[in-house]
Amino acid sequence: MLQTTKRPDSPVSIIGAGIAGAWQALLFAQAGHAVTLHERGDEAMTDATSHWAGGMLAPYCEAEVAEPIISRLGLRSLDIWRRELPDTPFNGSLVVSHPRERNDFERFARMTEGHERLDAAGLAALEPSLEGRFRDALFFPAEGHVEPRRVLPKLHERIRAAGGTIRFCSDVTANDLAKDPEGIVIDCRGISARDEQGELRGVKGEMILIETNEVQLARPVRLIHPRWPLYVIPREAGLFMLGATSIETEDTGVSVRSALELLGAAYTVHPAFGEARILEFGSGLRPAYPDNLPRIGICGGRISVNGLYRHGFLIAPALAELTLAYVQRGQIDNEVMQCA
Ligand SMILES: Cc1cc2nc3c(=O)[nH]c(=O)nc-3n(C[C@H](O)[C@H](O)[C@H](O)COP(=O)(O)OP(=O)(O)OC[C@H]3O[C@@H](n4cnc5c(N)ncnc54)[C@H](O)[C@@H]3O)c2cc1C
Repeated sequence: MLQTTKRPDSPVSIIGAGIAGAWQALLFAQAGHAVTLHERGDEAMTDATSHWAGGMLAPYCEAEVAEPIISRLGLRSLDIWRRELPDTPFNGSLVVSHPRERNDFERFARMTEGHERLDAAGLAALEPSLEGRFRDALFFPAEGHVEPRRVLPKLHERIRAAGGTIRFCSDVTANDLAKDPEGIVIDCRGISARDEQGELRGVKGEMILIETNEVQLARPVRLIHPRWPLYVIPREAGLFMLGATSIETEDTGVSVRSALELLGAAYTVHPAFGEARILEFGSGLRPAYPDNLPRIGICGGRISVNGLYRHGFLIAPALAELTLAYVQRGQIDNEVMQCA
């Protein structure tokens, strides 16, 4: 336990209204702090990595490659999503593979918990569009997904309803905001925080948005792929997001090769995707520390929440809860927090 010097109602300035900053702002505003959330971009949020994300809330599937801390934060976050945004879809998620990737599929099953094995009939009962497409599937019933471009405005609305202020087109630094000795500044700038944190790097994720009425899905479908976790996520009104590559580069273009891989994967999930209309190509830089783990950095009244990597939507609520517990009660989480 560490004693903070801050009053429980200290003013809180948060920089960055992506998924990390939005959840910090919401929980701090609800706890009675005078919250101001500063965002450099406008309300469209296209500068945020969060704008390009899949929005899967998949603590069980991610356990295949992520450290146990991600599952811990993710499982806690699912409860917070349910509590704060009860209309969040929790329809589960599916993992499928073609015969060539059978060994990887079995490995995925061994490395993860929280799933049921479905045969072809079980899969067709859950997702009629996938009838006859796969021999079997893993179904993770407790997982959810959100549409980032809808959920960010929803969170922003909730922050205002809880008494917080949001300033868009407000490009600020922590030094600008740290003048009030009673105030707390929470830096949630994602990859832009590299000016102060040289070890942060961007990991490019590319995505494609397509449209078709020939396929209906109620939940994300992951396709086992030798290099990337590829998936198809249903959006509203016949839209589907195809994602996502994971490339160690900070170039934000979408390459021909990635586009071919993503479109090809969708086509093998269902041939009707071959006739879909392409609406958008895009990419975002996932902010990552060298260990790919999230970090809450604490230096007096200055706090940084970053390194959410490929799990921002999954873990942001739990990170906000931990930050709040530190400010209010001096509670330290040794796995996530680093105190200067
Ligand atoms: C293709 C793709 C798919 C993904 N899929 C998933 C998924 O399915 N599930 C999941 O959990 N995660 C997913 N992720 C990861 C997730 O998107 C990131 O972890 C998350 O968006 C990081 O959020 P953030 O708030 O830290 O950063 P950002 O979303 O980048 O937000 C930072 C904000 O700070 C603002 N800012 C920067 N500097 C300043 C300043 N000086 N003043 C004011 N504002 C400033 C920026 O404009 C930006 O809006 C995916 C990522 C990608 C790229």
